[in-house]
Amino acid sequence: MNMIFLGAPGSGKGTQAEVVSEKLNIPAISTGNMLREAVKNGTPAGLAAQAYMVKGDLVPDETVIGIIQERIAKDDAKKGFILDGFPRTVEQAKALEDMGINIDLAVEIAVADEKICKRMGGRRVCEACGSSYHVEFKPTKVEGKCDICPGNVVQRVDDKPETVLSRLETYHEKTEPLRDFYSERGKLKSVPGQEEIADTTALTLKAIGV
Ligand code: AMP
Repeated sequence: MNMIFLGAPGSGKGTQAEVVSEKLNIPAISTGNMLREAVKNGTPAGLAAQAYMVKGDLVPDETVIGIIQERIAKDDAKKGFILDGFPRTVEQAKALEDMGINIDLAVEIAVADEKICKRMGGRRVCEACGSSYHVEFKPTKVEGKCDICPGNVVQRVDDKPETVLSRLETYHEKTEPLRDFYSERGKLKSVPGQEEIADTTALTLKAIGV
């Protein structure tokens, strides 16, 4: 099954993508994680993306489409995949169609803006493997250390309050039209994000039908 997880930054879509990925044994492919890795390694894509990411703006479509095309072509994605954070524009969704990639389901994790702003301050990410955490809702076992790898868990530069607001604006303007795009194709399932991660997971799995 090929799936897309849609939702505002901080909606919890990355966390849900990780859970579903483990359950279905298919990779969760996060363009945000791949771009952060590229920035860290100073690759050409990373250099092209960095200035946009720090401000909370979207990276140009051609950079992200190139990265995703390469990743989807890998062997582990042959049996299915979850895209987390891609597509983020209608142009990117059309590019997926043009690549001949069939999407079975677009799962939206719906959370109101006010809740997002409250949540974002506590969000943390492993700088080595990209695993997501939250100081309140999903704390690490050892403070500042990833549960999965020896990496350090930090706040993302773009999770600072002033950047969060502009990311939310970008989401409404550029990404939200994807709800209609996938709804028109009969592929959209909307899951109301809950306070507890496990409750959102239960609704997500129900929506996916597993
Ligand atoms: P995320 O981890 O998904 O919140 O992504 C972090 C940042 O990476 C975003 O604010 C964008 O600057 C960039 N980014 C990630 N995915 C995309 C995408 N599909 N299109 C454009 N920019 C992206």
